[in-house]
Amino acid sequence: MPGKNLSRDEAQQRAGLLSVDGYEIHLDVTSAPDATASTFVSTTTVRFRCAEPGAASFADLLAPRVREVTLNGRALDPAAAYDGARVALADLAAENVLVVVADCAYSRTGEGLHRFVDPVDGETYLYTHYEPAEARRVYANFEQPDLKAPYRFTVTAPAGWDVYSNGAEESSTVDGDARTWRFLETKPISTYLTAVVAGPYHVARDHWSRELPDGSTLEIPLAATCRKSLAPYFDAEEIFTVTKQGLDFFHEEFQYPYPFGKYDQCFVPEYNIGAMENPGCVTFKEDFVFRSKVTEAAYEARANVILHEMAHMWFGDLVTMKWWDDLWLKESFADFMGSFAQQEATKYQAAWVTFANQRKAWAYRQDQYPTTHPITADIRDVEDAKLNFDGITYAKGASVLKQLVAYAGRDAFFEGARRYFQQHAFGNTVLGDLLEVLAVTSGRGEQAMRDWAAAWLQTAGVNALTPELTCDAEGRITELAVLQDGTPDDSAAAPRDLRPHRIAVGLYSRESDGALRRTARVELDVTGARTVATGLAGQPRPALVLVNDDDLTYCKIRFDADSLATLRTSLGAIEEPLARALTWSACWNLTRDGLLPARDYLALVLRFAGQESDIGVLQSLHTQAKGALEVFVDPAYRAEGARLLAECALRELRAANPGSDHQLAWARFFAATAHGAEDFGLLEGLLAGTARIDGLEVDQDLRWSLWIALAAAGRATVAELDAELKRDNTASGGQKATQALAARPTAEAKAAAWSAVADSDQLPNAMVGAQTAGFAQAGQRELTAPYTARYFELLETIWAERSIEIAIRFVGGFFPRLQTDRATLEATDAWLAGHPAAAPALRRLVLECRDELARALRAQAADRG
Ligand SMILES: [Zn+2]
Repeated sequence: MPGKNLSRDEAQQRAGLLSVDGYEIHLDVTSAPDATASTFVSTTTVRFRCAEPGAASFADLLAPRVREVTLNGRALDPAAAYDGARVALADLAAENVLVVVADCAYSRTGEGLHRFVDPVDGETYLYTHYEPAEARRVYANFEQPDLKAPYRFTVTAPAGWDVYSNGAEESSTVDGDARTWRFLETKPISTYLTAVVAGPYHVARDHWSRELPDGSTLEIPLAATCRKSLAPYFDAEEIFTVTKQGLDFFHEEFQYPYPFGKYDQCFVPEYNIGAMENPGCVTFKEDFVFRSKVTEAAYEARANVILHEMAHMWFGDLVTMKWWDDLWLKESFADFMGSFAQQEATKYQAAWVTFANQRKAWAYRQDQYPTTHPITADIRDVEDAKLNFDGITYAKGASVLKQLVAYAGRDAFFEGARRYFQQHAFGNTVLGDLLEVLAVTSGRGEQAMRDWAAAWLQTAGVNALTPELTCDAEGRITELAVLQDGTPDDSAAAPRDLRPHRIAVGLYSRESDGALRRTARVELDVTGARTVATGLAGQPRPALVLVNDDDLTYCKIRFDADSLATLRTSLGAIEEPLARALTWSACWNLTRDGLLPARDYLALVLRFAGQESDIGVLQSLHTQAKGALEVFVDPAYRAEGARLLAECALRELRAANPGSDHQLAWARFFAATAHGAEDFGLLEGLLAGTARIDGLEVDQDLRWSLWIALAAAGRATVAELDAELKRDNTASGGQKATQALAARPTAEAKAAAWSAVADSDQLPNAMVGAQTAGFAQAGQRELTAPYTARYFELLETIWAERSIEIAIRFVGGFFPRLQTDRATLEATDAWLAGHPAAAPALRRLVLECRDELARALRAQAADRG
């Protein structure tokens, strides 16, 4: 489609020419409950100015049909003015009014206006999701972040529904079976931040208030919604508790009153991402409504997301990046603030442990791909933008802000944020605007801030830090140096720049009770390849040296040989949870880099995971151990490794405290690793109720985990899976049943899963995910091998014909990542070599999959020894 992939150059030009005074948008979604209706009527009236009267420009719109286009009272012929992606606007006046009436499509991909029918009660639900550039699927607009405008939404919907939008409800009137909702005009916001949520949603209400410095009171009505059929599971009180804690915290720190009136949080079905910060109308994935028992880690993750989105109300919504190059300006900040606020204002005190162990793992992985990029990126067009919601923009950026707080100080950081909001409220910014205020508030000056930004924001890649310990004959330290290394582990990649790091080094000694405790800590500025720490000479030789203790910087932690030997025997004895989490994370990076044989990593998990007290860390150990077994160990060791993991899982499951989170985590891991007839017999017994583990409730989510494991092992029939779906005929049940059917070890099951995605563009986003998750099973490499060639044949067609969300799921979900052999690597290289002109975003995804495969082959070689 020409013009669909809006470029930065076009956006810059248009922003130079146009300014928008306001939108009035009317959506008529009364057709939504009718399954045969594929479109709704969208009417946009936009008033805008043009700096050069007589000039031409365009509006964005992705709609199956345009009924009318009127510019300044002149009717234009839609067939001539609209090309499928853009409405051409010629001969603009200084002040213009454009009216576009279009039939826009209900979405099944989570992009635009998504429509979902609840299998439980047949009710229809709608919600919008736009970032980065999908508002044009719902109404005609100028789809770029720096053309902000106030919006007035009017929505006509079935009379029994509720409708939510960015503005508060102004009025609603009933006309027969329909009701028309009018919403108050919003503050100036960007297109990607507008939102409409409509349907017979269940709603809980509360409110928050605060006295402002000028003596007035700020009142914010709060609402939380979910589908009616999820209402029995909806713990709105807990959601409101975190919400109020966050509002208290951000008002205290930002000193800028919440600017968007009310605060709705809508939990919506088949959502593509965790959540979206639409001002006053945040949307969340409904997996955050917990139908079955989940661990504390899930509540912690939800609280983190609630606070992340709330931070965006200021950073992102009030002040917005000019273009997607500076996406990090909002995402890094919100990601950092999510954990910061969680630690400071809520009961979730493991926030920084989770950040160090899980969030940063995402950044380290992404930052070692050949496609990595500086935190401030070069985003040529909106397809590029879509791919940049990645581990660099979020987790590395947040790590770097954590480092900035260590470098500039907490007070300077928040004072900088306060000035930034005051100076740029309702405007758009670039990196320099933030650096300018930080240069002043930190007292470090403009040059120092520019140097800091150059080192951290404008370079790519991760450094490794290794301690070098020298001791005298009595075992006392004579020198401790920190070595900085920019060498990538793939010899084909370019070396990385060294950076200045503010770090802490911890020395840990074994105490008489067997625990490893920190006995000394020193902070230092690491610069260049080798930095000597002062103040440690004469200390006794420690059992463990931990660089980047307290997780101040962003680096790969390495160990000296003695420390690594200590970890092999005593990792679980490290008493402090953050230090232990950092150590686990470092061992995982060593494994990924082929510096620690994967079977040695598994040995650490087998020996110490049972002692891990932090539930989030334990769950990531489970994921990593399974991943190591699937792709990093020597294939000759797989059977032995699988047996050991399954034994360990069952042992720990039986040993765990009845009813505990740990018991549930081990139960899920046991299902994922079950191996051999006896294990599967136990899974069957748990499902049938003939076997019991004291305190373990086999609720619906756990039942599906057991069924998926049995299905993958060829021990579940279609009839059994159908019966389970009858028992749980819900949205989530439908997805799990689909995954289980696709997981069966037969050629027919694989063909059906493949065909459901590859041969039809009707499958909704969530079902695409379920099919690909079921398709790829480690024990079924021979069954899925024939699809490698078909995958590469189809890549370009899928990319061209599907929405970008579905295309991304196809590329990642069906890449043959489990076929860890030379032939698959060569097939990938052949596709890359043969398709130099494929869409850059598609090439980027394939290059990243290729890199994971090459890494797996290196790790297997290391594991063979
Ligand atoms: Zn965000």
